[in-house]
Amino acid sequence: MKALIKDKPTRGATFTELPLPQIGENDLLVRVKAAAICGTDIHIYEWNEYAASRIKLPLLFGHEYSGEVVEVGRNIKNFSPGDRVAAETHVPCGHCFQCTTGLQHICKDMKILGVHMDGAFSEYAILPAICAWKLDPTISFEIGATMEPFGIGVHAMSKTKPAGKKVIVFGSGPIGIYTQMVAKLSGAEYVIGVDISKERLDLAKRMGTDIVLNAKEVNVVEEVEKITKGFGMDIVIELTGSKGVLNDATKTLRRGGEIILVGLFPGPVEWDVVNNVIYKEATVYGVTGRIMWDTWWSAQSLILSGKMDLSGVITHRFPLEEYEKAFELAESASSGKIVFMA
Ligand SMILES: [Zn+2]
Ligand SMILES: [Zn+2]
Repeated sequence: MKALIKDKPTRGATFTELPLPQIGENDLLVRVKAAAICGTDIHIYEWNEYAASRIKLPLLFGHEYSGEVVEVGRNIKNFSPGDRVAAETHVPCGHCFQCTTGLQHICKDMKILGVHMDGAFSEYAILPAICAWKLDPTISFEIGATMEPFGIGVHAMSKTKPAGKKVIVFGSGPIGIYTQMVAKLSGAEYVIGVDISKERLDLAKRMGTDIVLNAKEVNVVEEVEKITKGFGMDIVIELTGSKGVLNDATKTLRRGGEIILVGLFPGPVEWDVVNNVIYKEATVYGVTGRIMWDTWWSAQSLILSGKMDLSGVITHRFPLEEYEKAFELAESASSGKIVFMA
């Protein structure tokens, strides 16, 4: 099968032929129909510190995907060839404290598809059945491939009650935009999206975000002060994972507000906790991945409601062969979601 693999500890990837993977007794073999590029894939492609410290080469990467089941492991009863599935990319062990208490998504021994094990930038992929979500027949493969990143936005907003609240999201990449869309649909008074890419902010605006702020052009803390007439934001969501943003993000929070941290910082951050958290009596949530399967049910319902058009966030589609073009675009941070289509 054709596959895009990472086999050298340098920038780039190799488009190659691999033998068809052999499934284990608890796995599904999936013919990949759509696979989206995630920030993690860009780290792997660029081979930065994040990738070098985690990845063992060679690796078939890519993890946000959907496809059709073609073969089913011996122990699996609830899936059959022909089923359409999307992948939950966090593979839980099934046995630890978290897994046995409804917290599989923060499993102590979690593995990640396309990071710790082979992924899906390929014609076929192995999907542990524990991570397979049956796609509703009305949801397309390309939307199915984006349910994983969409789910992060759904999970993040589920920590709070955005109805009638002022919400600000730092970061307007695809997950940021999804989060803004969920906040808006959940009845926020208004949603502010922040980024440094004009293209992304334009896309956020098109998808319904009320106010967009370009942090390269304006002082976001001062702007929020003006917009809220000194009130401050009720809910702040941090998705940039950029060390410099955290203090500004929490400066926009009103006293007694809530902050949701989702973006992954590249290392320890210096955070003025006294002024931004303690004196504000702020509530801080950490969010990772998607709750299995609560978040997926909510994500599906939001899509099926017809009130949320996720296809608008997908700005580019490529065949896998054109991976160089796709990654160049992804690195420019000027696009929405980029999807490889089979
Ligand atoms: Zn991802
Ligand atoms: Zn576990």
